[in-house]
Amino acid sequence: MKHAWSVIAAAASAVLASAAAQAQNYPTRPITTIVPFAAGGPTDVVARIVGEHMSKSLGQQVIVENVAGAGGTTGITRGAQSKPDGYTIMMGHMGTHGAAPALYPKLKYDPTKDFESIGLAAGTPILIVAKKALPANNLKEFIAYAKSNKVSEAHAGVGSVSFTTCTMFNAMIGAKPTRVAYRGTGPSLNDLVGGQVDYMCDQIVNLAEQIKGGQIKAYAIATAARSPALPDVPTTKEAGLPQYQVSAWNALFAPKGTSKDIVTRLNQALGMALDDEATRKRLLDLGAVIPSKQERTTAYLGDFVKKEVARWTPILKAGGVVAE
Ligand code: ASP
Repeated sequence: MKHAWSVIAAAASAVLASAAAQAQNYPTRPITTIVPFAAGGPTDVVARIVGEHMSKSLGQQVIVENVAGAGGTTGITRGAQSKPDGYTIMMGHMGTHGAAPALYPKLKYDPTKDFESIGLAAGTPILIVAKKALPANNLKEFIAYAKSNKVSEAHAGVGSVSFTTCTMFNAMIGAKPTRVAYRGTGPSLNDLVGGQVDYMCDQIVNLAEQIKGGQIKAYAIATAARSPALPDVPTTKEAGLPQYQVSAWNALFAPKGTSKDIVTRLNQALGMALDDEATRKRLLDLGAVIPSKQERTTAYLGDFVKKEVARWTPILKAGGVVAE
């Protein structure tokens, strides 16, 4: 009996030792970040910018794999079910880890239970933007226009940030647009620039350049203060819709069971990226808000996700929108 226990104990310590050695050498090969939307959208842009610096500090490439579909839940489901060895991580956001549970009764992951939190990567204010040719030139004109004309709205799928924030916006202004789903707001921005769709609500990071370049119109930013990246865009308060206050975020997650040492390593690498001058500048120029040191811990993100799910569930359930 004694013998059997010591065999088990020896086997257990061998497993622990090899897990520790694995974490110590980590990473020995490239890391894949699943981006649950098409290339060129905010989630993709944030993942690529921080990933570039993380590749340098980790000494291994951090590669983006775009796995789009179902408002980001397809990619996050894949990530949640992948091997928890630190070689597959995910860039989630307010939609995939906040709104989705209220909208997908059959969601295959629980944002509050099935992940190890790595850290917040960026805060992303929400803007209301429209195609250049739309006759409305400010938010008030747009509200009047949207109520009396047929309009189309682009979003990145049920449960995405654009879908969720425009669901709120449409309800507030009494608009009933034709809602057009894309595989991410990268492709929907292309159609907005091309004039195939009328408006969208989205995260600032892939809009700033097109707004500055005059390829699309920005009616308002839904934060308390204007963005330093777009000082000419009024806040919703200034533009006459003060009750529309909403912003989103992007964050890195690992599948549940990824070792604490590996998660710590990834959290440190993310923190180093957010402290790097060139990386910060790229994010700030796009209008992203860089998380403070307190907001960068793994514990902060874990709590934050719980609060986001609790915040969005009643709002979205009240709206009566449900996906299959
Ligand atoms: N910003 C998008 C959303 O609406 C997704 C993306 O990053 O493409 O959720």
